[in-house]
Amino acid sequence: MRKILILLFILACTPQISLSQNTILHCGKFIDGNSDEAKLQMSVVVSGKKIADIKSGYIGGEENDVVINLKDKTVLPGLMDMHTHLSGQLNPKSYSEKFFMNREDYAYRSVPFAERTLMAGFTTVREVGGIISTALRNAINKGYVVGPRIFSAGKSLATTGGHADPTNGLNAELMGNPDPKDGVVNGVVDARKAVRQRYKNGADLIKITATGGVLSVAKSGQNPQFTEEEIRAIVETARDYDMHVAAHAHGAEGMKRAIRAGVHSIEHGTFMDDEAMQLMKKHGTYHVPTILAGITVAEKAAVDGFLPDIVRPKAAEIGPKIVDTFRRAYETGVKIAFGTDSGVSKHGENTREFELMVEGGMPPMEAIQAATRVAAELLGVQDELGTLEKGKTADIIAVDGDPLANISSLREVAFVMKEGKIYKQNRVATN
Ligand SMILES: [Zn+2]
Repeated sequence: MRKILILLFILACTPQISLSQNTILHCGKFIDGNSDEAKLQMSVVVSGKKIADIKSGYIGGEENDVVINLKDKTVLPGLMDMHTHLSGQLNPKSYSEKFFMNREDYAYRSVPFAERTLMAGFTTVREVGGIISTALRNAINKGYVVGPRIFSAGKSLATTGGHADPTNGLNAELMGNPDPKDGVVNGVVDARKAVRQRYKNGADLIKITATGGVLSVAKSGQNPQFTEEEIRAIVETARDYDMHVAAHAHGAEGMKRAIRAGVHSIEHGTFMDDEAMQLMKKHGTYHVPTILAGITVAEKAAVDGFLPDIVRPKAAEIGPKIVDTFRRAYETGVKIAFGTDSGVSKHGENTREFELMVEGGMPPMEAIQAATRVAAELLGVQDELGTLEKGKTADIIAVDGDPLANISSLREVAFVMKEGKIYKQNRVATN
C-alpha cells in the first residue's frame, strides 16, 4: 500500500510528457490550390495552427493523434471571398434601416452572417465597406464570434453624392456635411486624411467607389466620381500604411482612372472595355467580378416595391451585363480573384459564384484557384494562406463529390477547419 502511494506521489510530481496531438486528414481527392490536377489518397498532418506535413497515401499517426476520414470527399484550401459586406443583407427595408438601427444592432445582426459564411467553406473574406467590419474582425480573432478571418476596409470612401456617400437620397436637413471620417472626400487633402483615418481605425485596406453604383439612391450607376489625382493620392497614402486599394467601378472611364492610379483590384467592372482590360493586364490589376451580385439585383429589379424607383432601372441594366464582362475579361487574360458581394446576395450562398464563373467559361479548377491561391496573392498573404502546403496555415475544407466534375458540389461543404480548429464536421467520421 505504501509503495503504491509513493508511486502515485511520484507520478503526480512527474511533469506530463506532452505528446502533442496532431490531426491527420485522410483525403480521397486533394486540390492544393497550386497544381492543375487533383491528387488522390493524400494525408495532411495538422499540428496546432499549421500544416506540419503532406504525404501520399493514408498514413497512420501517433497514439493520441486524431485521424479524420475524408476518403470519400474532395479536400481543398479554405475558400477566400474578396468582396463581402457582413454588416447587412439586401431586404425591402435596407433603405430605411439606418433610421432605426444602431451600430450595435448591425454588429449583432452580422454574427449569424459571419457564421454562415464560414460554414459555407469561406475561411477568409475581404470586407470591402462596412461600419462594423473591423470590430467583427477583432471579435472573430478573439474567439467571441465564429466566422471567417476578415480583412477589413472599414467604411468605403466616396465623393460627395457618390456611391457610398452615406447621406445620399435623404432630405436636406438630414444630409448634413459628411467628411473624410464618414468616408466622403473631395480633393487630395481629404483623400489622404480619409486613408489615415482608416489606418487609425484599424482597417487593413481601403475601398473606394470610383464610379456610380447600382444600389445607391442616385441617378447614374456608372459615372466617374473621383478625379485620377484623388485616387492617386489615396493609393500613395495607402501604400505608406501597407494597405492596398479596392475600387468599385462599373463605368469604363472611372475604372481606367483607378487602374492608372494604381488600385489593386476593380470590383464588378461591368462596362469594362478592351482598353480597360489591356490597362489591367499592364498594371497587374485584379478583377473581382461579383457575378452573383449582378444576377441578384436583376432579380430584385423585377419585384415591385423591392428597390427604390431610382435604383430599379440601374439594377435591371447593369446586373445581367456582368457575366458577359467576366467572360471577356477571362478570355483576355485579366487576373481574376473570386468575389461575390454577399450582402447583396444572401450570406452563406457564396459558392453560387463558382457556378456562374464556370457558366462564364472558366474551368472549375481555375475558379477554385481564383478563390484560393489568386485571392491570397491579391491580399499579399500567399506565404500563409491560399494553398495547402507544408508550413502554411491550416485552413482546410472538404466537400462531398468532385467539384471538378460538378462545380455545384462546392455547395456541399462537409468539413471546415480554420487555423487548425475544426468548425464543421458533417457526415465525417473520426477514426
Ligand atoms: Zn460591394
